[in-house]
Amino acid sequence: MNVVIIGAGPAGLLLAHRLLARSSHYQVFIYEQRSDPRKLRSDQRAFVLSLTERGQTDLKAIDGLWSAVEQRGVAIRKTGVYSKKRQQWQVFERSSGVEKYSLLINRNHLCSALLDELEKRKYPGLHLNFDTACAKVDLKAHQVTLAAKDGQSMEQPYDLLVGADGIHSVVKAALLKQPGFDFQQSYFDKVWKALHLPQPQAFAADTSYFFRVTSPATDAKALPIQISGAAIPELDDQFCLLIFWGQAPDQAQNNPPGIETPTDLQKMIFEQWLPGLQVSDAAAQAFCERRPSSILETHCDRYHDQTGQAVLVGDAAHAMSSFLAQGCQAAFADVVALDRCLQASEDQLQDALPQYSALQVKEGHAITELNILLRPQAKWVSSLFSVAMMMQGKLNQRFPNRFSPTPSTLLSKTSMPYAEICDRFKSWFSLIRWSNQRMLAKQKSAQSKSVATNS
Ligand SMILES: Cc1cc2nc3c(=O)[nH]c(=O)nc-3n(C[C@H](O)[C@H](O)[C@H](O)COP(=O)(O)OP(=O)(O)OC[C@H]3O[C@@H](n4cnc5c(N)ncnc54)[C@H](O)[C@@H]3O)c2cc1C
Repeated sequence: MNVVIIGAGPAGLLLAHRLLARSSHYQVFIYEQRSDPRKLRSDQRAFVLSLTERGQTDLKAIDGLWSAVEQRGVAIRKTGVYSKKRQQWQVFERSSGVEKYSLLINRNHLCSALLDELEKRKYPGLHLNFDTACAKVDLKAHQVTLAAKDGQSMEQPYDLLVGADGIHSVVKAALLKQPGFDFQQSYFDKVWKALHLPQPQAFAADTSYFFRVTSPATDAKALPIQISGAAIPELDDQFCLLIFWGQAPDQAQNNPPGIETPTDLQKMIFEQWLPGLQVSDAAAQAFCERRPSSILETHCDRYHDQTGQAVLVGDAAHAMSSFLAQGCQAAFADVVALDRCLQASEDQLQDALPQYSALQVKEGHAITELNILLRPQAKWVSSLFSVAMMMQGKLNQRFPNRFSPTPSTLLSKTSMPYAEICDRFKSWFSLIRWSNQRMLAKQKSAQSKSVATNS
């Protein structure tokens, strides 16, 4: 069976592992538009992502894969938060279990480990192609057109086409043209940038340091803007700084509010956001010059096209904000589900593909909902929910058989399906959904009043 995977990101590469480890009857063709991540210069590193229990479990299912990935990441067991009152960083243990930790790994290092392990296994059915973009998908002819960087173009027929090509998926774009394919997308009101720097002396290599500040509104009518982020240890004594701030994606500002120059950035990081952390002139300059990335959230009502024999996995199926750090882990869960459906149906796509969609669409919707619902917008709901969840956590520790762990614990320390987490806390989520909608309506009405007054 010819399986064509578009995209050599975490989802596409894990799928190749699972198919090739399970059966020699697959010919797996992977096409990736970017260059091999193992050949990138060290300053071309992407962002760091966190793999918790659920992501780790999916990697452990393939012999030797987890240990290869683990070596490229950093085990994080502590969280640092700066106390203004005490004028120092306070560090908390994340978990009592030594065996449970988050692995923080650069996305490119994760892909490099998955690639090395694929090649090490010398599968005759593996066909890896970098610098080759999928330019066109012909769902009727079961064929894709590929464009290599050197200008060459070629056709590749397939029996199964897998769109593992991320947020702006061309495979999804082809599926969207099919009748009855329902799709929605919206931009988050936040943008982000990353910065890489050598490990600062005063910062430990097993701790992620977080901050969240509110920047005062620029004029009387504007709302205050939240800036948040983290300094996260990476391999080779490096740190990755992720900074998120509230900004509509069509706004032209290149930097967080209050940052006009690299010196402003250095001062703000050192004094306010991550006190004590020094950023070099060159890194600050590069940060300020780079454009911020926006965050897109997408919803599809199915992840497959039956006649086109095509399927979506990972961000191509359900892009989400990185707030709950679940995108990659949700992508792995898709891959596991797709592989299991193919195996159970003995590759009968008319059975496997609808079954895959039925399982994973509800999971995709649940995790994108959780990303929103675990951030109550109204202050009173946010405070109430925080207190209730603190109590819930304490009660769970004392009476684990009678009280569930909190949604955050279920997300990070278990592999419980996302839909089940939503269901378990449905009363809370109904309240948060209702209050979030009210907040949104209020904001919209305030905006339209302000427009009316101005005109
Ligand atoms: C700042 C940030 C922090 C994050 N933190 C976390 C976290 O802590 N934990 C977590 O689980 N997730 C996290 N995520 C989300 C996670 O990175 C993604 O969900 C994950 O990378 C999705 O994997 P994927 O393989 O589906 O897609 P991608 O990683 O987007 O890979 C898709 C691949 O397809 C290729 N491609 C695209 N179009 C084509 C084409 N036409 N032809 C050929 N190739 C193509 C792309 O070049 C890319 O390599 C974070 C994301 C961001 C932005």
